Amino acid sequence: GGPEPGPRQHRIRVCVRKRPLNPREAGLQDFDVVTVPCRGVVVVHEARQRLDLSRYLESQTFRFDHAFDDSAPNELVYRHTAQPLVESIFRGGMATCFAYGQTGSGKTHTMVGDLSAKGQGCPKGVYSLVAQDVFCWLQEPSYKQLELQVYGAFFEIYGGKVYDLLNWRNRLKVLEDGKQQIQVVGLQEEEVSCVEDVMKLIEMGNRCRTSGQTSANTHSSRSHAIFQIILRKRGKLHGKFSLIDLAGNERGADTGSADRRTRLEGAEINKSLLVLKECIRALGRNKAHTPFRASKLTQVLRDSFIGENSCTCMIATISPGMRSCEHTLNTLRYANRVKEL
Ligand code: ADP
Ligand code: MG
Repeated sequence: GGPEPGPRQHRIRVCVRKRPLNPREAGLQDFDVVTVPCRGVVVVHEARQRLDLSRYLESQTFRFDHAFDDSAPNELVYRHTAQPLVESIFRGGMATCFAYGQTGSGKTHTMVGDLSAKGQGCPKGVYSLVAQDVFCWLQEPSYKQLELQVYGAFFEIYGGKVYDLLNWRNRLKVLEDGKQQIQVVGLQEEEVSCVEDVMKLIEMGNRCRTSGQTSANTHSSRSHAIFQIILRKRGKLHGKFSLIDLAGNERGADTGSADRRTRLEGAEINKSLLVLKECIRALGRNKAHTPFRASKLTQVLRDSFIGENSCTCMIATISPGMRSCEHTLNTLRYANRVKEL
């Protein structure tokens, strides 16, 4: 192999995960146009038409830190994305993991697991896999002696406003003091002492996220959900892992909608995802002009982007179908830009 990559390269990992073609898509005669020929490579075979109406396939190749085929289980995705970052929060670091992609491409499946599939065989998501490892590391003698407390927080950003998912969607204010410290005022932090405690918080928050909405899917596709595992030492912040199930990236296109509210929400999502890209790219660079304030999402995550001990991973989720091709290419281009230094 070549030279060891510098520490800067380790701070941002970008991976892609393809989900299987589902029965609905198969029923619509959609077909799989995405392949993962080898580790880290994704190829999209786009169907095109010549002027004489004959068809041909145009292939576009993308490279990432890792690419997962539709057979990869959550545990494998976790092992190559969030898991290597868990220990850093015990050393006082700030870790972040984003799921980015089109609605229906598998963000929630990856982060939360399958909530509909109750009971055995229900795949665990990154949220609870991180929690599991946090409680493992807590038993390490060198970390045990720190006497850390573990807390969970869960909130969502919808239409540029912040709502507490562990407190009946209580609307929260975000304040910035003179030293540019950000505070989400009144955010509920629940102390947790085992994985089961964390699972309860996730279930409670998810119920809160989708309750009272006319269409659960519409709502969750338009909001960013942020689950945090926080380590405190005698009350003082020690480290934090933020796990984010982003709004569907196709919602940015709602800016052309006839409905004013939908249009405004689309514009907000579009902006937050663009600013997020800039903020991730600024990790480990000159941060003077990083536009944290330009969106609520990056504003509340500011402390996770600054500091020498911050690291981020992104899991870009993609649908395999030909009908999703445009969205898939948009997702891959965005993920590529995040990575490019
Ligand atoms: P998103 O949160 O991005 O809108 P979901 O996670 O809700 O998408 O996924 C949409 C559907 O596809 C769900 O029924 C989910 O169970 C299924 N799905 C997503 N990813 C996978 C996968 N990797 N393997 C199997 N099923 C998946
Ligand atoms: Mg979802």
